[in-house]
Amino acid sequence: MSESTTSAGDFIADTVKADNESGLYSGRVQTRFPPEPNGYLHIGHAKAITADFGIAEQFGGTCNLRFDDTNPDTEETEYVESIIDDIEWLGFHPNQVFYASDYFEALYTWAEELITKGLAYVDDQDQETIQTQRGGFGKPGVESPYRERTIEENMDLFRRMRAGEYADGARVLRAKIDMQSDNMQLRDPVMYRIRRGFHHRTGDTWVIYPTYDWAHGQSDALEGVTHSMCTLEFVTNRPLYDWYLSHLELPYEKPQQLEFARLELTHTVTSKRKLRQLIEDGIVDGWDDPRMPTLQGLRRRGYPATAIRAFCAHIGINKTNSRHTLEELESFVRTELNRSAQRRMAVIRPLKLVIDNWPTEDGRTIGEARDAGDSPVPITTWFDINNNPENPADGTRRVPFTGELWIEQDDFAEVPPPKFFRLSVGREVRLRGAFLVTATEVIKDAEGNLLEVRATYDPASEGGNAPDGRKVKSTMHWVSATHGLDAEVRLYERLFSTEVPGETTGDPLDDLTENSVEVLAAKVEPALAPGDGVTPGQAGVEPGQAGVEPGQVSVEPGQVVQFERLGYFAADSRTPMLFHRTVGLRDEWATLQRKS
Ligand code: ATP
Ligand code: MG
Repeated sequence: MSESTTSAGDFIADTVKADNESGLYSGRVQTRFPPEPNGYLHIGHAKAITADFGIAEQFGGTCNLRFDDTNPDTEETEYVESIIDDIEWLGFHPNQVFYASDYFEALYTWAEELITKGLAYVDDQDQETIQTQRGGFGKPGVESPYRERTIEENMDLFRRMRAGEYADGARVLRAKIDMQSDNMQLRDPVMYRIRRGFHHRTGDTWVIYPTYDWAHGQSDALEGVTHSMCTLEFVTNRPLYDWYLSHLELPYEKPQQLEFARLELTHTVTSKRKLRQLIEDGIVDGWDDPRMPTLQGLRRRGYPATAIRAFCAHIGINKTNSRHTLEELESFVRTELNRSAQRRMAVIRPLKLVIDNWPTEDGRTIGEARDAGDSPVPITTWFDINNNPENPADGTRRVPFTGELWIEQDDFAEVPPPKFFRLSVGREVRLRGAFLVTATEVIKDAEGNLLEVRATYDPASEGGNAPDGRKVKSTMHWVSATHGLDAEVRLYERLFSTEVPGETTGDPLDDLTENSVEVLAAKVEPALAPGDGVTPGQAGVEPGQAGVEPGQVSVEPGQVVQFERLGYFAADSRTPMLFHRTVGLRDEWATLQRKS
């Protein structure tokens, strides 16, 4: 990776720098990203990934991916694969891929070591009793009646736990620390529970499973992690992290835990449990629904990985929890797409525009032929239109124009309201890159619904400019009705209507937006056809003509293009001719910034 992904001056970078200077880890920097494979990664994880990989990169160290797979009930291979895929998509490459489950034997051996040292004991009480005895802040803890078991007895019971002699939940192994500690985590935390469940990697080899706290720091230590970053809610776990490590023989220097703020976004939830509920309740179509804040969802929606990384670098690694606006993230997406996305024309709410003085193949105009009751084929002409004015190297494409076009319903008004400068009867507008046209009349059906708009064009305005330099206020996009292709376009609203979903009732699902997707039947220019090597709609064009080489003007699955005036749209990765709106064109974040 070329660009640096963390801003200098982050407190974690400062710590690493100080450790390098003091020689604590002999200059070694090793981090890890430790997801639990119980769901798909979301935008919050992107921050953690950027921090973990970014710090390693900044100091010439390494970052590994470690699956924190200590719970057989919730973990699946499907999640493992998607997580690997998402990290690569973001542009990071784990030095190695590890699994906490690879350390089950090593962790077990270390647990026996703690028993031998008199620092762990088997408790026969159930979870609920243990929980009650733990007490609370300012409330003393109660010691378990099993706390003073002999080392021999503990060892025997723990081995029998492993051998499967007891029922699920019948016994646990606990660390013997301090039942009166102000830190609840230190009140004899559970290290192992008995749980018969099929583990995605170890199958049914094990019936005892380590808890997060027992597995995490020890896994770090076994791998040689130096700086173990996690989110702020683990601050109170740090003394326990240190306690375990300080009582074991470690293969490397003791790792240290460093905490940073979670990333939260307005109108968004980033809890895997809540995201799963959205799927189970049928509110979204799956983990990769374009409304989901999962990396799969954002990617399907058309968010470039580079934009997500730039956003994470911009917010930095901070120590106070805060909620960033979705507009801020979208602003990074727009900046990136403005640079990279090809421009295309699409009409998402089509209205027919017929140009009466346009020539047909038999020499008459459309209007003359129609008056005679005929409908000869209108002539087609091709315009070279810029693919991306931001990037001249992207060149031009040929767009077919004819006397029957689609324009946006919103671009025409029978009775134009004040400040409406688009098309209305008697008014002239520019059809982007083509001609100036003036609307002459409207055609309606028996119920009074608008069927089409009739217009005339100025043949001297080819390319969109009048030779006499007369001004027209509006430039509108269009699609040739003869050549236009049918497409489905989906426009999205925020999934949650409130900035902090669930703030009032406690349940984010109470704040769901009623209709977060609008599905439209659009007409799009031929260059939006899927890239299958054929360029539809351009039959009869001489081979070799610029812009019409087979396959050149098309979109690939997942490609994001700008529909002029409408926003950025991602071609669906699976279904051809389906487009998701990524973001609109207006930068709402810039507006918010100006106001504040
Ligand atoms: P959830 O609570 O949604 O299940 P999690 O924190 O349990 O999420 P993990 O798979 O355990 O998810 O997370 C892997 C890493 O990503 C952890 O280090 C975690 O702290 C970090 N992480 C998770 N959510 C966020 C977030 N919103 N912002 C920053 N980092 C996060
Ligand atoms: Mg977790």
